[in-house]
Amino acid sequence: MILTKRYRIEGMTCAVCAQTIERTAKESLGVHSAHVNLANETLTLTYDDSFSLPLLMTTIQDLGYQLIAPSATHHYRIEGMTCAVCAQTIERTAQSYSGVLHAQVNYASEQLTLEADDTFQESQFMQEVAELGYQLVLRDSTSPSPEEGPSLSEKKWRFRFLGSALLTLPLLIVAMGAMVGIPWATWLTPGGFALTQLIFTLPVVWLGRRFYQTGFRALWKRHPNMDSLIALGTAAAFLYSLVSTVRIIQGDPMAMHELYYESSAVILTLVSLGKWLETKAKGKTSQAVRALMELTPKLATRITDGMPEVVPVSSLQVGDRILLKPGERVAVDGVVIEGSTHLDESMLTGESYPVKKQQGDLVTGGSINQTGSITYRAERIGADTILAQIIQLVEDAQGSKAPIAQLADRISLYFVPIVMGLAFLSTLVWLLVGQSLSFALTILVSVLVIACPCALGLATPTALMVGLGKGAELGVLIKNAAALEQTHQLTTLVLDKTGTLTQGLPSVTDVLPNGSLSSDDLLHLAASLEQGSEHPLAKAILAALPESHRPLLPVNDFQALPGKGLIGTVDGITYAIGNQALMNDQQVEHLPSLMELAHAQKTIVWLAQGSSYLGALAIADPLRPTSLAAVQTLQALGLQLVLLTGDQQATAAAVANELGIETVYAQVLPHQKAEIIRSLIQQGERVGMVGDGINDAPSLAESHVGFAVATGTDVAIEAADVVLMSADLMSVVYAFALSRATLRIIKENLFWAFAYNVLALPVAMGILAAFGGPLLSPMIAGAAMSFSSVSVVLNALRLRRFNKHRWSPSSRKIH
Ligand code: ADP
Ligand code: MG
Repeated sequence: MILTKRYRIEGMTCAVCAQTIERTAKESLGVHSAHVNLANETLTLTYDDSFSLPLLMTTIQDLGYQLIAPSATHHYRIEGMTCAVCAQTIERTAQSYSGVLHAQVNYASEQLTLEADDTFQESQFMQEVAELGYQLVLRDSTSPSPEEGPSLSEKKWRFRFLGSALLTLPLLIVAMGAMVGIPWATWLTPGGFALTQLIFTLPVVWLGRRFYQTGFRALWKRHPNMDSLIALGTAAAFLYSLVSTVRIIQGDPMAMHELYYESSAVILTLVSLGKWLETKAKGKTSQAVRALMELTPKLATRITDGMPEVVPVSSLQVGDRILLKPGERVAVDGVVIEGSTHLDESMLTGESYPVKKQQGDLVTGGSINQTGSITYRAERIGADTILAQIIQLVEDAQGSKAPIAQLADRISLYFVPIVMGLAFLSTLVWLLVGQSLSFALTILVSVLVIACPCALGLATPTALMVGLGKGAELGVLIKNAAALEQTHQLTTLVLDKTGTLTQGLPSVTDVLPNGSLSSDDLLHLAASLEQGSEHPLAKAILAALPESHRPLLPVNDFQALPGKGLIGTVDGITYAIGNQALMNDQQVEHLPSLMELAHAQKTIVWLAQGSSYLGALAIADPLRPTSLAAVQTLQALGLQLVLLTGDQQATAAAVANELGIETVYAQVLPHQKAEIIRSLIQQGERVGMVGDGINDAPSLAESHVGFAVATGTDVAIEAADVVLMSADLMSVVYAFALSRATLRIIKENLFWAFAYNVLALPVAMGILAAFGGPLLSPMIAGAAMSFSSVSVVLNALRLRRFNKHRWSPSSRKIH
């Protein structure tokens, strides 16, 4: 097979370098042709199967340049992970695998995300992971299919638990019945007593073989994980009992007191119960995403040649005409071509009020039709729809790792070897001070079982998954875990005025010609000049034209001046339209002050011909009704607010005054916005920026957390960390509150997971027993360990009850 691929090259300084690389590449085995482009620093190669990319990469590296293969992201589902240490083992294996640039495992969602270049050999990699005891399943991210009912691993653990429990119950009655007054098994001979227990225990061990398979394998590979602890602990108890059984059969009845079959069985049963509950609860952490996936209906009514026909949504094509009946869900993104109705778009914006849709309006897949009926044309289908983008975005975020998780990861990595060391050490000490072998065994098993760092590994990812899912539900798309963690640490929030605080629907309120033109002529001239501009103010001016207006005049030499306005020529005369700064640049004379308009929060657009002033338009963009409450809530949360705008000082000051914002930067040119953010950061502030994502991109990227208002068609705004689906500033309040709630849960989880291990460990080691206190039974240790993980997951699920109304303007309680 002959392939052509393009690679990036770094380190080229001249044409000679380019030639050297080109020659080297051409001489490589299997290369048919090679071409280096110095300008865009690429190497285009045509090669066959005998070509080895790694070899060429090293050769080029030896020459002093870097050949960078194109990379791709791979998503896998991981099967067979039982603990956070497994997750890290896989992550480290992947990270160090050749061709892998970056790897991340999310234990809670059981996902591996890899970024790998061309040299990555997938099947070999999957083989290597399989040898560690885990299965990788390639995930098709383009067609999300919602999982119905309990997941596969949940069913497996349920079966393992129920099976083990059914066998362990009679075992317990045989083994311990006599002690608690159920003397059913007293008729058994000592040998029969031991053998009966063995018979019940064996299938439990078989049901729990998963722990031995991964546990011992990981131990041999020197990545011991929690399974290793369970495997070692229960195997020790089982083997010891087996030896005792042999002794009993050989005629030593005293060995009857040294049977620990029930310990292994009970531990295996309880750990399986823990796993079952954990998988069950873990399934709920991804419920938000599943709910989004279920928003797309399975069927839609397509109209072909005027005839309606019900078809699966997956068979729809761009351009199809689709009929939407009352109560149905919109199938794909499209444009209304007929009829009118109201849609509930709450899955997008988090706000459930009906939005009117008529001819020409955009409809979004997943929104619910109310009483009307429309026909729309499919514009975006499958993975291109907004809903699919949102799902992808949330899943990617859930697969990312928060900085706070790294600490837990590191701790849990060292925890297992340390625990094993402590277990053997304390066993040895007790033996040396003269305790019996069975006493020492109890210590060994308890320590191994109780000290599993499982809860530690679950603490962060589960809370993040719920938190990020909840965000999506509220119309706050947080693109990565780090942003969720950082949002509540912000100290300063910079707000863009237009479209964020204001409604973003500016309209012309006053037309003020200087006398040489009529109002109509002024507006007509202004509209003609603005026809080529994308600016919201331009749109407002065009919208102000009367219904039956004269045709617009053609404009030549159009020149947009970002942050100021524009210059253009009509009928050979050059005009300038824009803000005061532009008028000053043009040295326009006799400019009126128009202060009363600015104080009324109106933006003034001036029009001049050369240096002579022609007139002005006043444009109002009213504040959003929720802006004031949001600003007050954010201030009450301790944030310092800054208003940043390209608008003139007086207008900005009027807005800031109404909202109670003290710091205002007005008449700022687009590139200066990012500089202001940078200087705030230099002053030690943790800065968030709320903007519109298009002309605010540099400042969004510069800030610690950038919040962008989604434009309706694009939710994956590159520069932003958080995408707000509704342009309401209250969304930022929700993001802040959610971040705080999530971090509180994470800290609680970490504390409990950690405190529990640290407290239980000395007890298991027999510290209390040393002072005449009780010894921890291995069975209690098993129970405690399982329930600690479950409780951490349940605690994370509390976040699902996060209520935005507690933060809404009507209830001003904060905390
Ligand atoms: P912001 O988004 O913060 O309002 P911009 O940088 O988009 O700031 O614009 C700054 C100012 O420049 C506007 O308030 C307006 O006065 C002027 N301006 C920019 N573009 C135009 C335009 N096409 N027509 C008229 N005025 C404009
Ligand atoms: Mg703007």
